Amino acid sequence: MTLTSKKYDSGLIWFRRDLRASDQAALYHALKDCKKVWCAFVFDTDILQPLLARGLKADRRVEFIHESLLDLDEQLRGLGRANGIEGVGLIVRHGPAGSEIPQLASELGVQAVYANHDDEPGARQRDQQVLGKLAHAGIMLHLHKDHAIFERHELVTLNGRPYGVFTPYKNAWLRKITPFHLKPYSVERHAGALAPCPASHPAGVPALAEIGFEPTNLRTLKIRTGSRGAQGLFEDFLTRIERYQQTRDFPAVKGPSYLSVHLRFGTISIRQLAGVAHQMHLQGLVGASTWLSELIWRDFYLQILANFPQVASGSFKPEYDAIKWEHGKQADEQFQAWCEGRTGYPLVDAAMRQLNQTGYMHNRLRMVTASFLCKDLGIDWRRGEAYFAERLIDFDLSANNGGWQWASSSGCDAQPYFRIFNPVSQSEKFDPQGKFIRRYVPELGQLPDAALHAPWLAGALELEAAGLVLDRDYPRPIVDHAQAREQTLARYAVVKKS
Ligand code: FAD
Repeated sequence: MTLTSKKYDSGLIWFRRDLRASDQAALYHALKDCKKVWCAFVFDTDILQPLLARGLKADRRVEFIHESLLDLDEQLRGLGRANGIEGVGLIVRHGPAGSEIPQLASELGVQAVYANHDDEPGARQRDQQVLGKLAHAGIMLHLHKDHAIFERHELVTLNGRPYGVFTPYKNAWLRKITPFHLKPYSVERHAGALAPCPASHPAGVPALAEIGFEPTNLRTLKIRTGSRGAQGLFEDFLTRIERYQQTRDFPAVKGPSYLSVHLRFGTISIRQLAGVAHQMHLQGLVGASTWLSELIWRDFYLQILANFPQVASGSFKPEYDAIKWEHGKQADEQFQAWCEGRTGYPLVDAAMRQLNQTGYMHNRLRMVTASFLCKDLGIDWRRGEAYFAERLIDFDLSANNGGWQWASSSGCDAQPYFRIFNPVSQSEKFDPQGKFIRRYVPELGQLPDAALHAPWLAGALELEAAGLVLDRDYPRPIVDHAQAREQTLARYAVVKKS
């Protein structure tokens, strides 16, 4: 394309959950359509202020974004330099994104703003607001698909309805996929349109303290950030992907990819990941096929949220909202014990402590702890969902809501309500030597493997030899699983009736 055939004189790319400068749909379209492109990110006070108001100054996600922006700024500068343009970089604002972006677009005098779809209800509302303000100023807003392989209404049943069951969705996904859907956007080819930042709007990422936040333990945990971090993790995972099928359920084993936070913030492209996995799937590699299925689950829940936004507050199957959950002092105390990893069930406690200490929780354990909250403690899944939303570094409304509704049986294609995980047998099966438990519940460290999964059943001599006094060093179970199971079946009877 020659410069003269471009649609606009200048444009602005607004980065959100797509913090990379390669294979990025909105960036590609902006560069292709505009003679000059500026790049921006907004630390959105509508999201950050509520955290600060609650005293949550140290948030791993904010730090992850901050580190990833430094990387993105560097990538953009590099792209500019590769095209002989100095002074390219990321303009970073701090304020409500809904007004900062229209203001910045007007200040820069651009004719169009580019961004990628974000189908969370709050993001859609914000984008409507931005669209209105930009339109008022005569500026176009172009939104593109970037975050999913198939989104919104791209995959529907023969009746034209969105899928609510995973397996037919996955089959349709695999039938529809072509190299076109996996092709990277060649940002580099059009990067000559990147413009130096004007003196009035210098590039640069403010320090964390300037936006009111403090560092967390992200560095101590060696959590890799930015596109460079994501590519490193993916390369590492490719050496293990063949074994994913056998290893993915064991929290003490390095089985999964640990890429969720990167997919959440778009520091790696879903097309790159799905492209590699699909290629290996076609070659018959079972591990890659299983992993590809997980990426398809991600698309599945993204389209559920886009097509049924009511799931953000209510059950996908409305009859499940008739369930009477536990309330009151005892429920509150048990909820607190669950949050803090003090339930007396070692696997549940280890998992919750992993979440609190690192911001990550292994997938098997997300299922076990979520099931424990709704089906052993009888507490509303929405309370657990909100706790995960606050703590998970990879928190994503669609996957988190999907996971919680799966565990509570209220969701689309959820596990049946009468299937209730036994926290002890899950522990024996998926952490047989207690390696994971010992890491996060060190007070149980000296117990023999066989006693570790249910310390309250250990003999007095075993406890003594391990230097463990129950109730002093580690709690007895806050609930009896067998009794809780019966209560849950009774609680869920209301669903059966309807
Ligand atoms: P891998 O096993 O390497 O999987 C690769 C990618 O596939 C993941 O990064 C993720 O993007 C996607 N994926 C895997 N499993 C699922 C799934 N069940 N649903 C949707 N996408 C999936 N995932 C999130 O990204 N954010 C959340 O907030 C979230 N909350 C969850 C809450 C509950 C109660 C449950 C049961 C699951 C939740 N998941 C969530 C899904 C899953 O647990 C995580 O994606 C996974 O543990 C992340 O680790 P990984 O990147 O090593 O995964």
